[in-house]
Amino acid sequence: MTEPLETPADQHARVVVIGAGQAGLSVGYHLRRLGLVPGSDMVVLDRAPSTGGAWQFRWEALRLGAAHRVHDLPGMRAMGLQFDDADRSRPARDVVSEYYRRFEQHYDLRVRRPVAVSSVSRIGDGSLCVTTRTPDGTEARIRAEVVVNASGTWGTPFMPWYPGRDVFAGRQLDTTEYRSAAEFAGQDVVVVGGGTSAIGFLLELDGVARSTRWFTRRPVLWADTTSLDLESAVAAVDEQDRAARAGEVLPSIVSGTGVPVSRRIRAGIDRGVLQDEPMFRRIDESGVITADGRHVHADAIIWATGFRADLRHLAPLHLRTAAGGVVVEDGRAADEPRLFLAGYGPQASTIGANRAGRLIARQVMDELRGA
Ligand code: FAD
Repeated sequence: MTEPLETPADQHARVVVIGAGQAGLSVGYHLRRLGLVPGSDMVVLDRAPSTGGAWQFRWEALRLGAAHRVHDLPGMRAMGLQFDDADRSRPARDVVSEYYRRFEQHYDLRVRRPVAVSSVSRIGDGSLCVTTRTPDGTEARIRAEVVVNASGTWGTPFMPWYPGRDVFAGRQLDTTEYRSAAEFAGQDVVVVGGGTSAIGFLLELDGVARSTRWFTRRPVLWADTTSLDLESAVAAVDEQDRAARAGEVLPSIVSGTGVPVSRRIRAGIDRGVLQDEPMFRRIDESGVITADGRHVHADAIIWATGFRADLRHLAPLHLRTAAGGVVVEDGRAADEPRLFLAGYGPQASTIGANRAGRLIARQVMDELRGA
């Protein structure tokens, strides 16, 4: 859909990057190296109040290395910074936010925040219009030749529907709402989901909650390694790529790799804290009814059931397929050549987001040159 530009845009930029997490910063770094001037040629926007992308919102107990490895941003080592040397006793959110802040300053990326992109639309002159909104309600429009979307998934946690979800009298929350185990002291807690977030919550709740029960749609696949196995990761990333090219909803990465069994996880399995059960049948006011018909009392249900790509602001471009995704090939939207999606599908880990930065920046420069 193409809209006329009724009122002139407030600013023109050659490239707008939406999001300053790993993916957006990586693209921004490479675009700067390729000659774009941050703040004028290239404008990076982020709706969050501080640096760190989604990491700034993660729960206090999460430490670096607890899930998978967090890869350095390109150019970070040249500054003498690397995550492998980071203090693992500090919350991951503080470390990542600090490192990203230093990175943004060092490379002078001039990220504007908090500035939320509310929509991206096509305008008559062949460019894209990025509409932004600041917390005081001020709207502005930036005309851009190319848009790089790097908005991640944290804004769109996915909660599956189960019968009775609306009658449960206790507390229900998703991964983004979890703060600390102390909030559940003395409670019976049901955790849903087979990924690293669920496992992290169960381990943290052990000894704090009165009881925990763990329900997963499929039996948890424990990988035969202590860290992510590269071969199965390659297969999982290929599967993400296939889904992105087909315009399907993206599968979860751990469904393809299995969960690596670190020493901490091994101890949790041995203590019986990490015993997954088949998904419950339904929920009632005071708990859940298990697959074999028993009632389990719950004060709280934590839905650690994954995320979807946060692409709501791209709705005016009408890129959604009937299969629920967007067709993306090598980081570029197949139906909108001026739009790139960084950190999407096969790029959705910190290492993938890094590689994507270079790949996308080169394609962006080709597009700007009219190649
Ligand atoms: P994000 O870090 O989410 O950054 C997106 C940015 O876009 C945010 O700053 C957000 O504010 C901004 N934004 C979104 N929408 C808008 C908008 N409309 N307007 C303006 N700004 C917007 N990966 C690993 O490699 N290793 C790990 O150990 C690891 N642990 C994880 C633990 C958890 C609990 C979760 C949920 C994920 C984990 N991941 C891990 C995956 C991880 O999230 C990604 O690797 C990485 O953070 C993704 O970076 P990103 O730049 O794509 O997204």
